Amino acid sequence: MHEKCGVVGMSLTDRSAANPLYYALYALQHRGQESAGIVTHDGFQQYDHVEMGLVGDAFTEQALEELHGTVGIGHVRYPTSGSVDACCAQPFSVSFKSGSLGLSHNGNLINADAVRDELAAQGHAFTSDGDTEVIAHDLARNLLDGGLIQAVRQTMGRIHGSYALTIIHDDAVVGVRDPDGNRPLCLGKLEDGYVLTSESAAIDTLDGELIRDVRPGELIRLDPDGTGYTSYQLDDRTHSAHCFFEHVYFARPDSVIDDNLVYEVRRELGRQLWEESGIESDVVMPVPDSGRAFAGGYAEVADGVEFAEGLMKNRYVGRTFIMPTQDARERAVRLKLNPIKSTVEGKTVTLIDDSIVRGTTSTQLVEVLREAGAEAVHMRIGAPPIVAPCYMGIDMASRSELIAADRSVEEICEEIGADSLAYLSIDAVARALDTAREDLCLGCVTGEYPYDIPGETADRDVKRPDVGEEPVSPAD
Ligand code: SF4
Repeated sequence: MHEKCGVVGMSLTDRSAANPLYYALYALQHRGQESAGIVTHDGFQQYDHVEMGLVGDAFTEQALEELHGTVGIGHVRYPTSGSVDACCAQPFSVSFKSGSLGLSHNGNLINADAVRDELAAQGHAFTSDGDTEVIAHDLARNLLDGGLIQAVRQTMGRIHGSYALTIIHDDAVVGVRDPDGNRPLCLGKLEDGYVLTSESAAIDTLDGELIRDVRPGELIRLDPDGTGYTSYQLDDRTHSAHCFFEHVYFARPDSVIDDNLVYEVRRELGRQLWEESGIESDVVMPVPDSGRAFAGGYAEVADGVEFAEGLMKNRYVGRTFIMPTQDARERAVRLKLNPIKSTVEGKTVTLIDDSIVRGTTSTQLVEVLREAGAEAVHMRIGAPPIVAPCYMGIDMASRSELIAADRSVEEICEEIGADSLAYLSIDAVARALDTAREDLCLGCVTGEYPYDIPGETADRDVKRPDVGEEPVSPAD
């Protein structure tokens, strides 16, 4: 699975925002490694620096010095919509009749094509195929007729999908969370200002304090002088649709999202896993690093099962998903994880991971543990089976690649070669998150989505806004 993007916005009293924005992006690096960028404003003009690559490579000291102003926004990107090249790197910035505008976006629009076609018919020229530029153009058009808050409200009425945005319009910085709260966004207080960011770990990095999550459908405007903020509830819905995978996989364990510390949720998922499908074995071990907190929770409540690290990770091997062929992917798994023989030999092992996507890694790991002398390998997964793709900004795989899309748990168990396999139930996930099922997005584990997606079933009464164009095909 690919992580999504990370966004940040900041307003400080009298310090340059460039360096703190850079540190915040460092803290969000796990959410996107393709490009990084910062846009600032000094009250007179906008400055931007956007580069391909990791945060540490994208900025030099001089580049940061040239980003003047006490307000700004930043972005790290993993491409979920649009091409993999510099034209889609963010923040997206544009100067127009009503000033300058910069936009950072995490998420994915379902109806971007329809809005783009409508704007193009009105003469808007697009430089990328990404959905962020669609939002920027729509906002720019609305800003010709009114203020920023009203412009965002109008754009929110036209776009359909998931988004957490930080926007800079001249020296005003706002953060917006989509009406379903699908993507995370939170507000923090710094010693000399305020910050909006995808994850609270970025606030910790800046020695700040988390104030709260931005509510679904809420816009928060930071005062340009860094002394406060104002909240505007632009859309209010009965139910939200938080992405549960943020807690299971994407977010940093030290982040608090929607009032839940990610690390603690993962431990609780591990405890629930033992309650639902615990099995006697000599050792319980995590798939590093993703399964560690789950395995810790599992071992905490498991009777007589010893916790052990039985697989060592080689941190210098690229992620398996960037390997172009199946053969290369399989080789990469073996390069990446090596068993500690003495922990495994002659033992029954319960291996804990957070998810199974294609099944390639699980198959290899079971094989590796057997070769190291494990007598039995039981797999326990801290989430329900992934049966359908994500259209909201997570690049997991297409339906045909998902091992659970058309197989039962028994068939998957056989395919990966484990002695037993069990996943966590959806109810257990909702319990661990202390959130009602109706307030979660469960699209990838139920095949029913909280959005109106052509060709898919919705899990609630929801309809795409009519922007006067033919229905669009979602990107898979
Ligand atoms: S479909 Fe799955 S990964 Fe995508 S937003 Fe919903 S819960 Fe998250």
